[in-house]
Amino acid sequence: MKIQSILHALEEVAPPVYQEGYDNAGLITGNAQAEVSGAVLCLDATEAVIDEAIALHCNLVIAHHPIVFKAIKRFTGKNYVERVIIKAIKHDIAIYAAHTNLDNVFHKGVNAKIAERLGLSETRILAPKQVWKKLRTQIPADHRVQVGEALSGISDIRIFWSAPSEETLGLEVTAPQAREYAVQQAIQSVLPQPVFLEIFALESPTADIGSGMIGRLPHPVQEEHFLRLVKEKMNTAVIRHTPFLGNPIQKVALCGGAGGFLLPQAIAQGADIFITGDYKYHEFFDADGRILIADIGHFESEQFTIELFYEILSEKFHNFALHYTKVNTNPVRYLI
Ligand SMILES: [Zn+2]
Repeated sequence: MKIQSILHALEEVAPPVYQEGYDNAGLITGNAQAEVSGAVLCLDATEAVIDEAIALHCNLVIAHHPIVFKAIKRFTGKNYVERVIIKAIKHDIAIYAAHTNLDNVFHKGVNAKIAERLGLSETRILAPKQVWKKLRTQIPADHRVQVGEALSGISDIRIFWSAPSEETLGLEVTAPQAREYAVQQAIQSVLPQPVFLEIFALESPTADIGSGMIGRLPHPVQEEHFLRLVKEKMNTAVIRHTPFLGNPIQKVALCGGAGGFLLPQAIAQGADIFITGDYKYHEFFDADGRILIADIGHFESEQFTIELFYEILSEKFHNFALHYTKVNTNPVRYLI
């Protein structure tokens, strides 16, 4: 079996096209056409995880966070990112990341896993996304070939041409939001002069794609009791939270990782509590007596994502060697 088959199974659940524009999810090192010998599942592909994969004779590491986010110009091993890449390439290890695309899916996504652990029902996406954009413009007719070629390198887009006059061509491109910038760049890059682009968000946000999740507990629970339950279910040593409001908790909004940007949606939808990670001191003030904020830690909120990988792959491939990493890749420790 090829690495590609494994990646395909993951991408059926979390299509890479749903990742955020800043993300770098997908295959980062390795050859998808190589035979796969086994996979190590982790949140972060650290050096210790690559060593683990080598020791287990696994040539695939499946991580939640992409080890490479921004362009690297030198590979001298002066920081951990470069060292991971060098080691992975030397040992023919493929590193694959399913990041914000896995965050953004409703079914079998990062947030569904948290909601499942907390026993929430009636779950839905907290901030559904407009995932498709339509870009419309007119270009000089004699540039059709160049524009067509420039766009041909962008996946998942649909192109429509029309001919309003002899000299100009109408161009309409339907693209996933994550490709919007690439489409704009491609069109502008081959034209002699910049053109205006009309950009529309396509109607009906997809309820199954977006950030965060909101759901209900079967019964209202007293605040401190609920936080103790969260602490236990999410296996976290510490919860940092805003002062108790004296209200029982029933409606729960959550987002794995750094989800602070979703607080307005959590409040607008009447959540009693917002659970996420990576809150900063001043951001806690934004609760403003309207909601309880609970920061359970970035790693802690996402740690069960590894189980998601396992569930998706073990369901499909019965005799394939899957290993949960034994390395604790959390860079944050607590002295209690
Ligand atoms: Zn994360």
